[in-house]
Amino acid sequence: MYEAERSRLVKGLKSHGVVTDERVLEAMERVPRHEFLPSELRDQAYVDSPLPIGMGQTISAPHMVGIMLQALELRPGHNVLEIGAGSGYHAALMGEMVRPGGKVYTVERLESLGRKAAEAIERLSYDDVVEVVIADGSMGLPEHAPYDRITVAAAAPEVPRPLEEQLADGGRMLVPVGGQGYQDLTLVTRQGDRLERTGLGGVVFVPLIGQHGYRD
Ligand code: SAH
Repeated sequence: MYEAERSRLVKGLKSHGVVTDERVLEAMERVPRHEFLPSELRDQAYVDSPLPIGMGQTISAPHMVGIMLQALELRPGHNVLEIGAGSGYHAALMGEMVRPGGKVYTVERLESLGRKAAEAIERLSYDDVVEVVIADGSMGLPEHAPYDRITVAAAAPEVPRPLEEQLADGGRMLVPVGGQGYQDLTLVTRQGDRLERTGLGGVVFVPLIGQHGYRD
């Protein structure tokens, strides 16, 4: 279902130059976004727009997911941490890109969303490569660190310190940093003890709520 719509969306992202990395485009062709949405919103799955997924949270627009995947430079075998599983869609895409041999841990603080994300991940057979964990992801997930790649799908007041500590040597991390209006999508790279930050531009995400995020 929806293959033609999905293909049209992905071709649009490519022809507009939003996403150029073929591995990202291929993953977006394969993962069915509609399977991660509430049934009444499935018809809108292949419109390039964020959508509500319940509990006041949103699934990011496809172009945003594509831009983040491209900036992450995911490779097979990578150990990846995502904060904010939401629907599980972004995690499934990363699962596609780190196979074979890689692993994606995606942390969600809201149990009902995390449970639904895990169901979709299992239904689509990504559970060999993606694991959903219910916890405060602003603390990271020390038991599986260090991570080659970390991506945060919620806006933080600052780059959470535990995430910096859990980033592997040569690793890349994306975090939207800023207030609860616009944020700067910040790329953090690590070379040994040296951390470098680059701003990639303005974005709008829901807040990261937790010990190293905003207060509830
Ligand atoms: N990547 C998701 C979109 C996530 S929206 C997708 O593909 O659908 C951001 C999510 O971050 C929300 O579900 C919100 O509940 C979650 N979140 C906010 N603060 C968090 C925290 N401290 N730890 C884990 N998840 C958090």
